[in-house]
Amino acid sequence: MSTTKAVIPGSFDPITYGHIDIIDRSANRFDELHVCVLRNSSKSGTFSVEERIELIEESVKHLDNVTVHHFNGLLVDFCNEIGAETIIRGLRAVSDFEYELRLTSMNKKLNHDVETMYMMTSTNYSFISSSIVKEVAAYKADVSNFVPPHVAKALDKKFN
Ligand code: ADP
Repeated sequence: MSTTKAVIPGSFDPITYGHIDIIDRSANRFDELHVCVLRNSSKSGTFSVEERIELIEESVKHLDNVTVHHFNGLLVDFCNEIGAETIIRGLRAVSDFEYELRLTSMNKKLNHDVETMYMMTSTNYSFISSSIVKEVAAYKADVSNFVPPHVAKALDKKFN
C-alpha cells in the first residue's frame, strides 16, 4: 500500500493550541504529516520563519510522523515536491469560509490532483487565532490557555 501524505499549511505566527489540535488529529489519519510554514503576503510576520519552525517543532515533538518545513512558493508546488495529495485546513467560524473557498478553488485550478480537506476546530479552540493571542500577549495578559509554555515564553520575550 502506498504511503498517505498530507500537508498542513499556514503562517503559524506563532503556533497555538488551535493549530496543535488540528495537527494532532490529522497525524492519526495519515502516514506522514508535513507542516509547512508559508509566507502570507497579506500578513506581516511577527516571528521569523526560523522562529516559527522552532516553536512548531517543539510543539509536535510527541508525534513521530510529523515533519516541519517552510516553502517560498505556491502550496501546490510544495505538495508536488513531496508527493502529497491532501491539504488539511482548519475551520473555525463562518468567517473563515469565504477565504478558504477562494483558496481551495485556486489550488484546485492550479493542481487538480491535490484535494483540500477541512477539519472543524474543537469548540475549546474556536476563538483562538495567532493574531488574537499576540494582541493579548502585547498587553502582558496570560496566554497559557491558548499556547504551550514555550510559545508563551517566546511571546513574552517578543513583546515585553
Ligand atoms: P493562514 O495565514 O494560512 O490562515 P494560520 O496560521 O492562521 O495560517 O492558520 C493555519 C491553519 O490552521 C488554517 O487552516 C487555519 O484555519 C487553522 N487554524 C488556525 N487557528 C485554528 C483554530 N483555533 N482551530 C482550528 N484551526 C485553526
